[in-house]
Amino acid sequence: MQLRDSPEEAAFRDEVRAWLADNLPDDLRGRRGGAARFEAWGREWSRKLGEAGYAALTWPKEYGGGGAPYSHQAILLEELAKAQAPGHIGVIGLGMAGPTIIVHGTDEQKSRYLPKILSAEEIWCQGFSEPGAGSDLASVRTRAELRDGRYVVNGQKVWSSYAHLADWCILVTLSDPDAPRYKGLTYLLVDMHAPGVEVRPLTQITGEAEFNEIFFADVEVPVGNVIGEPGQGWQVAMTTLMHERAALGFALSGAFEVAVRKLLELAGGRELDDRLRDRIAETWIELQALKWTNYRALTRLMETGAPGPEASVPKLHWSEANQRLGKLALELLGPEAQVTDGDGYWQWLQLRSRGNTIEAGTSEILRNIVAERVLGLPKGR
Ligand SMILES: Cc1cc2nc3c(=O)[nH]c(=O)nc-3n(C[C@H](O)[C@H](O)[C@H](O)COP(=O)(O)OP(=O)(O)OC[C@H]3O[C@@H](n4cnc5c(N)ncnc54)[C@H](O)[C@@H]3O)c2cc1C
Repeated sequence: MQLRDSPEEAAFRDEVRAWLADNLPDDLRGRRGGAARFEAWGREWSRKLGEAGYAALTWPKEYGGGGAPYSHQAILLEELAKAQAPGHIGVIGLGMAGPTIIVHGTDEQKSRYLPKILSAEEIWCQGFSEPGAGSDLASVRTRAELRDGRYVVNGQKVWSSYAHLADWCILVTLSDPDAPRYKGLTYLLVDMHAPGVEVRPLTQITGEAEFNEIFFADVEVPVGNVIGEPGQGWQVAMTTLMHERAALGFALSGAFEVAVRKLLELAGGRELDDRLRDRIAETWIELQALKWTNYRALTRLMETGAPGPEASVPKLHWSEANQRLGKLALELLGPEAQVTDGDGYWQWLQLRSRGNTIEAGTSEILRNIVAERVLGLPKGR
């Protein structure tokens, strides 16, 4: 593992910094980029990222990507986070749907869907979780029945981020209830504007509605929208989930670094007892550990070319560290925490971070993955 930028990586880092200095409007710096707030300026910012070639840096050139090594993607995410630039509105298309279509899609599907993901013209959401199936994705009950040469979808998904903005959904369905577990699922691309699709936003503890319920009532989906083969939905969904966690790593450590620096500013000039000083130091150490763990996952990704279970380690580490960070900041603020300062950064972080240990795999599930698939320990069950 090389811990310093090579000359070529350093040049790329300089290029990104210069581009951000020229193109990131001041009023977008530090704007929180959750799905709820995004719509108008998020599309415009995302289009700019796409035009600069930064939307899908590591996608193969033949699909409109930059064909760059994963180390460049890591540098880009670090620099975007340091500049406090908002994320790309098409995070699910770029990080999950697109890579899955590249691996399992037909040529026709690639040429239909990938260009509009890159240009941010079409927004995607992920319809995996259901009221009775979250961690246990194989238990999904949303039915896809093959009738007269097309699938008819009925059921409900939940916690679907961006669904209220989305044009397309990557949907895991039960197509064969009689098949053995893991063998009766089919992965579909569903048009969110099709008759029978209803989206109901869910308000989170932050007061924002970033995710949604999606109801499907006799929604017709052409057979050409199956990704992989019918019945292979489990394998295709695993590709999506591995990319989801791999895409997160450096964006998370970059955002965490920004938050840790804000914490240091907050602590400066305050009376601190030894216990608080220790906790601030621990937060700094957690940041360093997170960075090095990311580099380890990156090294593996560059060796194998496909994201593996190692990406679960930084996600697990970050989500728990981020919750501790928010709690510590509010303790430092003391009674001041009751009133929001400016944009209420710390209050928002404290509330939003509750979901960090649930989204993209709960901590319990990630610990199982790390134990079994990274450390090679015996299976829990
Ligand atoms: C902010 C946010 C955004 C999200 N966005 C999306 C999205 O866009 N699309 C989407 O499909 N989903 C999304 N989700 C849903 C998320 O993927 C699920 O909430 C998550 O997978 C957990 O599923 P569940 O809520 O059904 O909990 P459950 O699976 O019912 O788990 C309940 C508890 O049991 C524990 N548990 C379950 N199984 C085991 C086990 N085998 N061993 C040990 N403990 C276990 C869990 O860790 C958890 O503590 C989002 C969630 C959040 C919070």
